[in-house]
Amino acid sequence: MGKALIIGCGGVASVAIAKCCQNSEVFTEIMIASRTLSKCDALKEKLQPTTKTIIHTRKVDADKVPELVAIMEEFKPDVCLNLALPYQDLTIMDACLATKTPYVDTANYEPLDTAKFEYKWQWAYHDRFKEAGITALLGSGFDPGVTGVFSAYALKHQFDEINYIDILDCNGGDHGYPFATNFNPEINIREVSAKGSYWEDGKWVETEPMEIKRVYNFDQVGEKDMYLLHHEELESLGKNIPGIKRIRFFMTFGQSYLTHLKCLENVGMTSIEPVIYEGHEIVPLQFLKFMLPDPATLGPRTVGKTNIGCIFKGKKDGKEKKYYLYNVCDHQECYKEVGSQAISYTTGVPAMIGAMLIMNGTWKRPGVYNIEEFDPDPFMDALNKWGLPWIEDFNPVEVE
Ligand code: NDP
Repeated sequence: MGKALIIGCGGVASVAIAKCCQNSEVFTEIMIASRTLSKCDALKEKLQPTTKTIIHTRKVDADKVPELVAIMEEFKPDVCLNLALPYQDLTIMDACLATKTPYVDTANYEPLDTAKFEYKWQWAYHDRFKEAGITALLGSGFDPGVTGVFSAYALKHQFDEINYIDILDCNGGDHGYPFATNFNPEINIREVSAKGSYWEDGKWVETEPMEIKRVYNFDQVGEKDMYLLHHEELESLGKNIPGIKRIRFFMTFGQSYLTHLKCLENVGMTSIEPVIYEGHEIVPLQFLKFMLPDPATLGPRTVGKTNIGCIFKGKKDGKEKKYYLYNVCDHQECYKEVGSQAISYTTGVPAMIGAMLIMNGTWKRPGVYNIEEFDPDPFMDALNKWGLPWIEDFNPVEVE
C-alpha cells in the first residue's frame, strides 16, 4: 500500500519498525533514517529475512532540515513517523511541510535548554499544514496516544459528558538494576524531576515534584505507589474534551528509583545547565544518560507487567457514571515477540497504528491535530489486532 519514512532507531523505533514489518500489506516499503547508521543496518539485517516489507536505511541528522528534505525527496514517503527525540519535532515538521509529507510523532516538542514541554510550538504549524493539505498527527504513543484514543472512545460510546479523567501509568516491571530508566534517560529524568501539575476548572494547578502520592491496586500487577506528574496529554485533553473539570496523571515509582533520583538531584547530576569540567563543557544530565544502562538493553532482564489506562467519571442519560479502560502488557511476552521490553512496546505499537491510519487515509484531516481529535474506533480495533488489547471495568475503584 505505501511507504513510510521512520526517523530514529532507538527503543521505540525498533518496536514500531518490527510491527511495520509484521504489517507488510500496509507498509510495503520503509526507510529507517537515524543518526547512527549501524543501528539502522543491524535492525534491517535482523528483520529483512522475516518480512515482505522492503527496508532501506540512511544516515540523517534530524536537526538539519535540508538533510531531511533530501531523503524525503528521494524516497517520497506517504508518511513520516518521527521516533527520534522531542528536540527534533520542529525540524522534521519543517521538512514534511517542504515536501508535503504527512507527519506522525509520539512526544511533543521540547527545547533542548528549557525542559518545558508544551504543544504551543507544534500547534503553531496548524495553518501551514492545512494550506499544504497534509495531516500532522501528534502524540501517537501510549501516553500520550492510547490515553487520548481511550478518552475519545469513552466520550463517543460511554458518556454524554466526561468531567474527570485520571490517567494511571503503572510499570510493575523489574529489570534488576538499582537504577535505570525504561526509555530515553534524559527525557525520562527531565519529566519526573519537573514540578507536577494537573488541569482543574480551566487552569493548571502546580505541585512540587512527587508531592502528591496515592496507592492503587492495579489489575494483574498489584498494589503500587503512584505520584502525580505533569504530562503532555493533559494540555490537549483539557482543550479537546468538552465539559472536563479535572485531569490528572499518575505514574508508579518504586522506593529505590526515588531514592536514587533524589540523591542524583541533590548532587546536581540531573541538571541541564552546562558545566565546565577539565576544560570541556558538559551537561550533567547528558553525562548521566551516558552512564546509565541503555533502555534498549533492558528487554531480556525485565519481568512483570505494565498496566496503563484512564478512569473516567461523568454523566450518561442524566446519571453519574464511572468507566475504566486499560491495557496490561507483559515485559517478557514483548521481549519474545520483538526483542524489547513493554515500555518500548506500548509506545511502538500505537506509533505503527497511527502511521498506518494516516497512510491508508482512514484518518485524513489537513492541519495539526492531537490523537483524540480523530475517530477512535479504527484505532481501538487495531490495538486489539496488533498486540495491545484493552480491558473495560464499569465499576472501578476511584483515586482520591
Ligand atoms: P532512544 O533514545 O532509544 O531513541 C532515539 C533515537 O533517535 C535514537 O536512535 C537516536 O540516535 C535518534 N536521534 C536522536 N537525535 C537524532 C538526530 N539529531 N538525528 C537523527 N536521529 C536522532 O529513545 P526512545 O526510543 O526511548 O524514545 C523515542 C521517542 O519516543 C522520544 O521522543 C520519547 O519521548 C518518545 N516516547 C513516547 C512515549 C509515549 O507513550 N508517548 C513513551 C516513551 C517514549 P542514536 O541511535 O544515534 O542515539
